[in-house]
Amino acid sequence: MARVNNWQIDRDMSYWYAEKRPKKQFAAIFDINKCIACQTCTIACKTTWTSGRGQEYMLWNNVESKPFGFYPIAWDVHALELLGAGDWKDGVYQGRTLFEAAREGERVLGWRPAADDYANPNLGEDDALDAEALIDKGLELLVPQAVWFFYLARICNHCTYPACLAACPRGAIYKRPEDGIVLADQKKCRGYRECVKACPYKKVFFNADAGVSQKCIGCYPLIEQNEQPRCFQNCIGKIRNQGFLSRPEDAREDNPLDYLVHIRKLALPLLPQLGLEPNVYYVPPIHAPKTFLHQMFGPGVEHALATYKAAAEDPVLVALLSLFGCTPKTIHRFKVIGDQVAGYDEKGGEIVRVPVKEPVWVRAPMKGDVPRLNVT
Ligand code: SF4
Ligand code: SF4
Repeated sequence: MARVNNWQIDRDMSYWYAEKRPKKQFAAIFDINKCIACQTCTIACKTTWTSGRGQEYMLWNNVESKPFGFYPIAWDVHALELLGAGDWKDGVYQGRTLFEAAREGERVLGWRPAADDYANPNLGEDDALDAEALIDKGLELLVPQAVWFFYLARICNHCTYPACLAACPRGAIYKRPEDGIVLADQKKCRGYRECVKACPYKKVFFNADAGVSQKCIGCYPLIEQNEQPRCFQNCIGKIRNQGFLSRPEDAREDNPLDYLVHIRKLALPLLPQLGLEPNVYYVPPIHAPKTFLHQMFGPGVEHALATYKAAAEDPVLVALLSLFGCTPKTIHRFKVIGDQVAGYDEKGGEIVRVPVKEPVWVRAPMKGDVPRLNVT
């Protein structure tokens, strides 16, 4: 095994291939606080990519309610049970990754879901923590509110160290050098399903009809035209922003992803202790217990929550968050200009400009003798 650096766990680790980073890395930020679980993203992806035979059960994008929602069932519970609770000290992960903990003769510590595990994609939707028990104890009297859940939108993380790629004996899974998108070569794949077993996020799917594994392709035909993927363009809650992420030491202040992930440390990776260096980042929900969030997003949770709660007073942060969902194009740079914020493409051309504060127009409550129902 090679020794590679994983900045998310702040240490070197063992991986099956030498460290070879792409020219630029596809990455995304999801603001959990804004997701309304409308599933428009899920349908946008489904109707674009997985409407064929053998793909009926596949959701390359899904949205689940945490803590009781999963697709497939208990994917994260399995991952945590395999490795034990994450052990961090001063931001450095002390435990083993899925590669380091692999059983003899295997490349990744994994598990393979059964067909039934995919049968209920909306399992646990809107279930709140222990609500039944709390109602017996007089839930309505509890202040602050003790019941909680939040929505977790998920796609393939196009990991820097993909477990799917490491496990494939055919070398059918590859990471594109130009943008870091992870693809499964349909001609090379022989359907061994080692990738399905290895991916802890369970974002590779076996197509029994075609006899091959299939996965999220990051909408690369759109990426090649500087456009964000379908699930991003259609997001009703404007929770998503796709872009490209640098290594921490190369972070640029004017790159939206670098700014939120590296500089302000507001957006965090999902289960970083697994060791894959996933490239989808989450702004954690402000109302869920910190112990749960710590297990899910690592030791940066406290800082991210404090930063988010103070964002309204922070002119750059509030401006940048206003850019989410404002354009189908990929924003490579941003700039705050007075009370507006602008987004630019890779060559520096302006692609969008929005007001940081939405203007409010108040109309006269009456138009002649006719009352207006909505004056703002
Ligand atoms: S479209 Fe956006 S708001 Fe709706 S469920 Fe998907 S991520 Fe959440
Ligand atoms: S999330 Fe899973 S399928 Fe996607 S790149 Fe990582 S290991 Fe592979």
